[in-house]
Amino acid sequence: MRAFAKAFYESPAWRKTRAYIIKRDFGLCTRCGAPGVIVHHKIELSPSNIDDPSISLNEDNLTTLCRNCHAIVHGHTPPLAEGLAFDRDGNVVEAALMPRLEDDDEFS
Ligand SMILES: [Zn+2]
Ligand SMILES: [Zn+2]
Repeated sequence: MRAFAKAFYESPAWRKTRAYIIKRDFGLCTRCGAPGVIVHHKIELSPSNIDDPSISLNEDNLTTLCRNCHAIVHGHTPPLAEGLAFDRDGNVVEAALMPRLEDDDEFS
């Protein structure tokens, strides 16, 4: 994960906002309707805007996506071949090397 975002993604404010966005979007991907697992920032977080709640916590800047659509939005090409996965920074790695992302936090 990007180091600058760690504290933000662990903050109660983000947890609350993330839960709200998923509920608002009925738990579904807003692009394809599959179960949504990622709350994506339309304006990507950066060290300069992460402390600005009008971007980092603005519901208009947040949308629920499934993993495939999230990868597409970030310019990747899903689905990945069997045995491959994206790591937190969007690099392709062998799935076996990845910790399971049980709580599906969004780190981009
Ligand atoms: Zn989708
Ligand atoms: Zn994203």
